[in-house]
Amino acid sequence: MVATPIGNLEDMTYRAVRILSEADLIAAEDTRGSIKLLNHFNIHTPMTSYHEYNKVAKAKTLVEAVLGGKNVACITDAGTPGISDPGEVLVKMAMDNGITVVPVPGACAAVNALVCSGQDTRRFCFEAFLPADKKERDAILEELKDETRTIVLYEAPHRLARTLDLLAQTLGDRPVTICRELTKKHEEFRRTTIEDAAGWYQEHEPRGEFVLVIAGRDRGELIRQQQEEIREAVSLEEHMKQYLDKGLDRREAMKAVAKDRGMTKREVYRQLLQ
Ligand code: SAM
Repeated sequence: MVATPIGNLEDMTYRAVRILSEADLIAAEDTRGSIKLLNHFNIHTPMTSYHEYNKVAKAKTLVEAVLGGKNVACITDAGTPGISDPGEVLVKMAMDNGITVVPVPGACAAVNALVCSGQDTRRFCFEAFLPADKKERDAILEELKDETRTIVLYEAPHRLARTLDLLAQTLGDRPVTICRELTKKHEEFRRTTIEDAAGWYQEHEPRGEFVLVIAGRDRGELIRQQQEEIREAVSLEEHMKQYLDKGLDRREAMKAVAKDRGMTKREVYRQLLQ
């Protein structure tokens, strides 16, 4: 799995050039696009197309080629194969057939967007593209609502404004960094909020390639909301009973109830007495 640049040819690694030159065959997502890359680096290895629409049938052919003794390198349009492109199918099938799969690291839009986003980088989740199907998309957005990790999304320019609108409606107005045209001439990191970005791109047509890096939900705020929901849904007595029925003694139950409701044990005790 050989990573290739996402816009700047200088990001091609020495190892990628060597591996692609030494391979017997290169499986490329877009052979017409990749020929420019290969020509630039003077690589003459034969190419075969491996894309979204033939990813299963072609993966079988490629696996057979490797089992027959050939060395196959996989590249995709840009970046790291397997991240939001057909590469993952090939890897699974190769491994199922006992083939050793080796990563040749390099550019990946998600990682490079994240590291220069100015958002928290310690914990993050990658959601790739939101699904086109409304039902699936709504389900994912619902899951993302309470996500406390930084969220990394890919989006096509023609869908950017609508996606920002949807994000504003579901996640609310949070910090976001719109990362555009990474490693290219017009590279840009717009650190703003979801609503502000939605407004901006309604007025300015989005051009180029985009990664959105969205701040996760504040954990403290999420816990406070959950505690409030519990306080509204279950009475203190009923809540105590639930824990007592589970076999906890009175002291343990009070401690658990206090934690769930965001109260002190003393407060729980006092209210129970009342
Ligand atoms: N495998 C690739 C990778 O490693 O990043 C991603 C492939 S995915 C089909 C293409 C999407 O990645 C684009 O729609 C965009 O969201 C993002 N992307 C790729 N190159 C980019 C760049 N130079 N700047 C910003 N986003 C980019």
